[in-house]
Amino acid sequence: MKKVGLLLVSLLLIGLYANSQVEAQEEEQNKVAEVLVNEESDGEASAEMPEEGRQRSLTQAADVRTIDFRKFHIEVTDGEADSISVPISNSKFTISYAHNNRDNLLYEGMTNEKGQILNLPPKEIPFEVTALKIRFTLGNDNRGYVQKYNKVAYRFTFNCGLNAANTTNTINYTHTKTKFGNTADDESWFYNFQASRINHYFDQAVQDYSQAVNLANELLPDTAPFEVASINMNFQKGEFVDKGNGFNRNGHDGSKIADIVIGDRSNKTFSTQYLMHNVMHEWTHWNLYRYANAPSGSYVSHYAYNVNPKISFKEGWPLLIGDLFALNYDMAKEDLRIQTDKYNGVNRLFGKSTNYTVKQVLYDLVDTGSNDEEFSLSQRYLDGEMSDLDIRRLNLGMLHTVMAESKTVTLQELLTAVEKKYVLTKSDKEKFAKLLEINGLSREGAFTLDNDGNPLTSPLQAVEPLANVEEDWDEHVD
Ligand SMILES: [Zn+2]
Repeated sequence: MKKVGLLLVSLLLIGLYANSQVEAQEEEQNKVAEVLVNEESDGEASAEMPEEGRQRSLTQAADVRTIDFRKFHIEVTDGEADSISVPISNSKFTISYAHNNRDNLLYEGMTNEKGQILNLPPKEIPFEVTALKIRFTLGNDNRGYVQKYNKVAYRFTFNCGLNAANTTNTINYTHTKTKFGNTADDESWFYNFQASRINHYFDQAVQDYSQAVNLANELLPDTAPFEVASINMNFQKGEFVDKGNGFNRNGHDGSKIADIVIGDRSNKTFSTQYLMHNVMHEWTHWNLYRYANAPSGSYVSHYAYNVNPKISFKEGWPLLIGDLFALNYDMAKEDLRIQTDKYNGVNRLFGKSTNYTVKQVLYDLVDTGSNDEEFSLSQRYLDGEMSDLDIRRLNLGMLHTVMAESKTVTLQELLTAVEKKYVLTKSDKEKFAKLLEINGLSREGAFTLDNDGNPLTSPLQAVEPLANVEEDWDEHVD
C-alpha cells in the first residue's frame, strides 16, 4: 500500500509495535526522533536489536556508530496458525538509514536462496542514527519480480532499531515469523504473505528447473545449459478473481511485454501444492514459448480432446513440469491414469490428443521403477550412483534439452526426437515401443483415436493457431 507521509519513529514506537507484530526482544532505549519522508512500501515490520557489545562511555562522546552486519534472516507469514513461513529468497534488498531528512544507502544486494543477508563489510554511520531500514523487493532482475498491476514490485520495509547506547551495533538477527502489512488494510498481511510465497516458489522453480538441466549438461556435455529469462508475475488482491492463471506473450494488458498473471481467488485458498504447480506451470509456458516458439491457444479442459495436437503438447508439458515440482517428482498415484481412466464409461485419455495424455506419456519418460513400463530416459547413460529423485530430475533435464534443440511443438515431435537421439539399442527400443503402446500411441508416437474412441482415419494435423491468440489461461487445478 502506498504510504506517503511522515513517520515519527520514536513517538509512534508503540503504534509501530502494534503494527509490526514482530515477536522480537524489545528495548526501551530508542528515544531519538527521526523524520522519514516519502516512505513507499507494501508493508512494514520492525524490531529492536538486543543489547550487546560496547556501550558508549559516559565521559566520552562518540561521533560514529559502527554497523557490524553478520546476519539478517527473516521469513514471512501472515500469522495464521497453519501458515508456513517462507523466506524472501534471492531477492533484492537495500539497507539504509535516515539522517537530516535524507535516506542514506549503506548496502544493496540480493538475499541468498534462504532469504538471508550475510556478512556485510562493517560501516560507520552517525552516532545519533538509531535505526536502519532494510527494504526488500520480491524478485530480482534475472528472473523477474512479483508485482502489482501498477507494475511496481512488492516492497517490504523492516525497521531495525539499533541499541542507542552502543558504539558498535552487531546485527545478528533471525526471526521466522515476520508479518508485513499495514493497519489500514486488514488483508495486507494475507496478500503480502501470498506474494512472498509466489516469490519463493518462483525462485525455487527457477532453481529446480535449472538444476535439472544442469544434471543433463553434466552427463551429456554437448547439451546446452538452460538460460533464465526475466518475466514478471502479477498478483494482487481483487484482481482476476477466480479467473485462473495465465501466461501472456504480449502482456495481459497488451503492453507487448510477456507476463504472467496469478489470479486472486474468492475462497482465499492458495495451498502449497496449488501455488507451486501454477507458478511453475505458467513460468514453463514462458520457457516453452522462448525455446520452441510453442503456440498459444485455448482448451476446454485437461481431459478434453484437442483436434490440434500442438495444444495438447503446449499444455501437457507445463502440466507435467508443474506437477513434478509440486509433487517432488513423484506422480505414482497417477501413473496408470491413461490406462484406467473411465468417465461415463469412456476412457478420455488412452490414445487421444488431450493435455493430460501428453503429461502422463512424458511422465513415463521421466519416472523410474514404474509398474507399467521399464523405460527411463537416462537409464543407459548413467555414469554413477544417483538417487531416484536425481534420476528423475536428470530425465526432465534431458527432455528439456531435446525440446530446446529440436524445438518440438507436438508430443510426436518430441518422442521422435528423443528416440533419434537417445533410444538406440534394441532393448531400449523395445522398452520405448512398450511405453508408446501402453498409452495408446502408434509406434511413431502419434495419437491413434478420435474423441469417440474410433481409430483416426488420418493423422491429426498440427496447425498454427490463430494469430490473435496470445494468451494461455489455465483452469484451476487444485
Ligand atoms: Zn497452461
